[in-house]
Amino acid sequence: TQTVSRPAAGAQKPLPLDVEAIRADFPILSRTVRGGKKLVYLDSGATAQKPRAVLDAERDFYENHNAAVHRGAHQLAEEATDLYEEARRKIGRFIGTDDEREIVFTRNTTDAINLVAYALSNAATAKEEAFRRYAVRQGDEIVVTEMEHHANLVPWQQLCERTGATLRWLGLTDDGRLDLADLGTVINERTKLVAVTHQSNILGTINPLEPIVARAREVGALVLVDGAQSVPHQPVDVAELGADFLAFSGHKMLGPSGIGVLWGRYDVLDALPPFLTGGSMIEVVRMEGSTFAAPPQRFEAGVPMTAQAIGLGAAVDYLTALGMDKVDEHEQAITAYALQKLQEIPGVTVIGPVDTVARGGAVSFTVEGIHPHDVGQVLDDLGIAVRVGHHCAWPVVRRYGVPATTRATFYVHTGYDDIDALADGVREAQRFFG
Ligand code: PLP
Repeated sequence: TQTVSRPAAGAQKPLPLDVEAIRADFPILSRTVRGGKKLVYLDSGATAQKPRAVLDAERDFYENHNAAVHRGAHQLAEEATDLYEEARRKIGRFIGTDDEREIVFTRNTTDAINLVAYALSNAATAKEEAFRRYAVRQGDEIVVTEMEHHANLVPWQQLCERTGATLRWLGLTDDGRLDLADLGTVINERTKLVAVTHQSNILGTINPLEPIVARAREVGALVLVDGAQSVPHQPVDVAELGADFLAFSGHKMLGPSGIGVLWGRYDVLDALPPFLTGGSMIEVVRMEGSTFAAPPQRFEAGVPMTAQAIGLGAAVDYLTALGMDKVDEHEQAITAYALQKLQEIPGVTVIGPVDTVARGGAVSFTVEGIHPHDVGQVLDDLGIAVRVGHHCAWPVVRRYGVPATTRATFYVHTGYDDIDALADGVREAQRFFG
């Protein structure tokens, strides 16, 4: 649990990170938008901007080392492979594992979750006995929560349709937290896997994973944590999580788009059949049939996203240099300030927890009498980038009875001035539509 006292208005405590110095590292933050307005980027939850170190790492790869990894018998192929595998080790250490075989490169969180969902249904028909251990079949149950991003909901719905399993879910409380009252019955002996988000992309809620993991362990179910909104923003250690899988996206943590990660406990990964098949993931291929390589190669068919993985390695270096504890503290301070400033405005309702206990920097809100799209448009005219809509978590907006929300999300370059601009912008929208 993290609690940060709210800064008194007019006497804000200094932020943990040097926002001005950090902004200078992000070329895009010096551009203007909408006729010369300073860009106020409050949409890092959708995708984060990239520091120069990440852009340089990708460019350096293409200019100096570009080759297909794990194949060529030449120097460039060797260099490319070394850089790619070094990125894998770095990303592993970033989330607390020294076993790089547990890091599977994917395109993004969505891809990582689909990999697991398809592996579990493929397991039911695998000809290899060793791959059938975690098979999902008719009569089994998959558990999610009502606050999942569609990426951690639809793949499980589809898995259930393919296999005849049943989808169950934990509901939400009125103040935007998981309702664990039914934990003991929703997760039961039929449960094969529990898929839960670490931090909600819309409510900002940081979920208590401990009791969920403990209950899953009691019944022998696997646990997948959607870390798309937690890994970029707080220290995450897979040993502490106690889960079997953790999925996250490079583009939300200062890295390139097109690269994501599935971390899996090695023994679990090793017992799963592949999702995609083809080159690079095989052991022996004959016309009559093929056998598959050990993880992570088993799950990385084809030439991988090499420059992107190296770029993500550079992003991890950048975040590590800032210190993930400091990144977390910084965002806690910004979030507390944003909650205070927004709630001072009559007619503004925050959708999600309004204290800073177990909550991260995704602040969704509605403004009485103004559609979120109109709020977003006024903010955009002022150079303030936010997201509006259902944020790919349709059941959540439905649960709280709103058609959509306006959402501001924060990162290492967010300062108090950005929040002041947001609050002024909301008041401007009220004047305009009032
Ligand atoms: N899970 C959560 C909580 C998210 O916020 C997102 C993206 O917004 C995703 C999953 C999907 O991420 P991606 O689109 O990078 O696969």
